[in-house]
Amino acid sequence: MKTIGLLGGMSWESTVTYYQVLNQTVKQRLGGLHSAQVLLYSVDFEPFEQLQHQGRWAEAGKLLAATAICLEKGGADCLVLCTNTMHKVADAIAQATDLPFIHIADATAQAIHQQGLTTVGLLGTRFTMEDRFYVDRLTAQELTVLTPEAADRTTVHQIIYDELCRGIVKGSSRDQYRQIIQSLVEQGSEGVILGCTEIGLLVKPEDSAVPLFDTTELHAIAAVDWALQT
Ligand code: GLU
Repeated sequence: MKTIGLLGGMSWESTVTYYQVLNQTVKQRLGGLHSAQVLLYSVDFEPFEQLQHQGRWAEAGKLLAATAICLEKGGADCLVLCTNTMHKVADAIAQATDLPFIHIADATAQAIHQQGLTTVGLLGTRFTMEDRFYVDRLTAQELTVLTPEAADRTTVHQIIYDELCRGIVKGSSRDQYRQIIQSLVEQGSEGVILGCTEIGLLVKPEDSAVPLFDTTELHAIAAVDWALQT
């Protein structure tokens, strides 16, 4: 089995889920006492959150590139960046090492195609929903991506940073997400991407009339697929 290098801590609340899904998936595939071979570099999220909101993406990319080099030196065989948002600087990170970079949007697009869907809603941070890096990656893979209206995007973004990244899960926020998912369905979404690694802590399949694509789960499963096949 290859060693999966996790670039985590953004936030740690969802890195916990990565660790669980990696191990559960290896156990399902191999049985016995098998578990995932993992190297985790978990950063302090606060400075990264500040860099994001100040638009200092290049600096954030350099810091994450340095952590990727640490993972490579430590023996990781691939890189898994455990956040959708920081994929905005995926190129800077991927170019810093010779390791294969398992892109979260590619793992998600593959799962959507496997279900035969083409039009999907996207929930995530403002950066993921509004900056082109994420939507362009999906549209390049023959998907049509719908995002919520401006006020709803603000709600989705604020709940992520003010609550989910702090481990706070509120029923009232779940109700707001359910309504926003429903409006994406009414716009024509055949499925909805949970394009932030913490949203799966709040929203479950029963909260939606259409299939949900949880990027945390899909990304972790793609990492296991890679680790067991190569
Ligand atoms: N984990 C979140 C994501 O998947 C948001 C936190 C971050 O900005 O990295 O986008």
